[in-house]
Amino acid sequence: MCGIIGYIGECQAAPILIEGLERLEYRGYDSSGLAVRDGREVQVVKSTGRLKRLAEITDNGKALYGFCGLGHTRWATHGEPSEVNSHPHQSSDGEVTLVHNGIIENYAEQRKKLMARGYSFVSETDTEVAASMLSYYYKKYGREPLRAISETMLRIHGSFAFGIMFKDCPEVLYAARGDSPLIIGRAEDGYYLASDVPAILSHTRLVYYPDNMEIAEIKRDSVRFFNSDLEQIKRDCVEIMWDNSYAHRGEYEHFMLKEIHEQPRAVRETLSRYIKNGEIDLSQSGLTDGVMRELDRLYIVACGSAYHVAEVAKYEIERVAGLPVETEIASEFRYRERELSKNGAVIVISQSGETADTLAALRISRQRGLRAYAIVNVAGSTISREADGVIYTQAGQEVSVATTKAYSAQLAAVYMLCIRLAAVRGRISRRVYDGYIDELTSLPEKIGKCLENQDKMRWLAQSLSGAEDAFFIGRGLDYALALEGSLKLKEITYIHSEAYAAGELKHGSISLIEDGTLVICLMTQDELIPKTVNNITEVKSRGAYVITVAAEGDRAADKVSDAVLYVPKTDRMLMPSLAVIPLQLLAYYLSVARGHDVDKPRNLAKSVTVE
Ligand code: GLU
Repeated sequence: MCGIIGYIGECQAAPILIEGLERLEYRGYDSSGLAVRDGREVQVVKSTGRLKRLAEITDNGKALYGFCGLGHTRWATHGEPSEVNSHPHQSSDGEVTLVHNGIIENYAEQRKKLMARGYSFVSETDTEVAASMLSYYYKKYGREPLRAISETMLRIHGSFAFGIMFKDCPEVLYAARGDSPLIIGRAEDGYYLASDVPAILSHTRLVYYPDNMEIAEIKRDSVRFFNSDLEQIKRDCVEIMWDNSYAHRGEYEHFMLKEIHEQPRAVRETLSRYIKNGEIDLSQSGLTDGVMRELDRLYIVACGSAYHVAEVAKYEIERVAGLPVETEIASEFRYRERELSKNGAVIVISQSGETADTLAALRISRQRGLRAYAIVNVAGSTISREADGVIYTQAGQEVSVATTKAYSAQLAAVYMLCIRLAAVRGRISRRVYDGYIDELTSLPEKIGKCLENQDKMRWLAQSLSGAEDAFFIGRGLDYALALEGSLKLKEITYIHSEAYAAGELKHGSISLIEDGTLVICLMTQDELIPKTVNNITEVKSRGAYVITVAAEGDRAADKVSDAVLYVPKTDRMLMPSLAVIPLQLLAYYLSVARGHDVDKPRNLAKSVTVE
């Protein structure tokens, strides 16, 4: 969360910073700010609300003169999203200006110490404390910026990616990272620092990835890297092959709708990276047949929608491959004291590859001697670099805060994992294996079918736009999908929504069902249909308005539901990939009908890099 950007070079900095912040806005959008310097003179401009306002007051950056600067788009953790709390922050003596992504956990204690040393503070943020810490160590240790940064880094508890300017050093930008993401870009016209690659992709494809606890000293024509002992480190520049078209909305009104439509491609490319000549081959991700054969357990750890993918994986890997699976939310996993099987492996799932809790879970697993693999969308991300192996989803950059195509690509990855596990562990015959491959191959086309003719969804959303509560119910895989459908709905429509295993509702929550309450029922698992029909009847008897998602040809849904959304039929394992489409579309059109900012829902941000 929070996007940081910096530039030093031959061009005017502010327009570049504004453009970069536009690409980073999905990381936070409650306020933003710029610091641009002309020699020793540093000009800071901040604004609350969306970046558009900052662009307006600075005439798209043209109002600020200088060839070096920093920018920030904020997702507040400490202090309300006011102008004074917005970044960049400065030390009270004006020596240091900085932008920050992360949380400084010991900021209160440091603040007290600094106040005793004569520093004062104007904001409620943790970040402002770091600016004064840097100034303090700068003055204490011979006005040496690198020393000041390393002394500060070592005293901070928490996470940070910093972009830093020292008043006395107009020709240098500094950057440092401890757990939060940071990249450095090299272009013809100068150097960039940013939270992620898309921010600078229109200027360069040459990128350095500093490691944890490293410092970058950036000049207009060079960059040097240091560890926290200030030993210089050699870093190689990587050429990024990303497709920049993902950063543009094209003909679509919102990124979310565009990304929903990109799902057939995202799934096809994810599958074709690992399925060659009718074989699933995950060995490039370290998950060789040998490794898979020896496993006695899998721990799948993730947050948000990626966690819902983990739930699908659990049901199917246990059923089809016969391997016990435990799933856990990363923020719980990281602090839980428990035994982990030495012959087990951990799989973390993260779109950005930067999710703070998921990264911590990965590190903890590896420290405890377990192999830890990752399913990640962003190549070069911290998780992808630290995992023992990675299955890369091929969703391309996802801009909308609410995930769609990354979720679908993650599902494709876990299907492949499940089927390969089942094959190498001797749980399925060659014929069944080939059948799965055929079904997987036809999946993108079937997802495409679900995207045809959206008029019904638009109409349905319009008629439901006044809903205040919704319940998603399903059994088995449909329950795993209900979790995702419910999250999608609540995050962008702000309708209160809950997901229940269909059989569980009557153990308490059914008391909330009254006349007209919206219940969305998922019914794609053949053998569970009669049981789910009973649950629909129970809520209908209490007045619920029931929309059911079912596979084509299934007539049971028709008899008990107010509306049925049909999706094509495929193998039961793959049904979530189809049934999720109407749920995404319903959430999308409801959000539009209710007049919300679909791509940037309130209080949220993508790529959750703080705890
Ligand atoms: N802790 C800083 C603030 O509240 C940065 C937040 C973040 O990176 O999300 O301003």
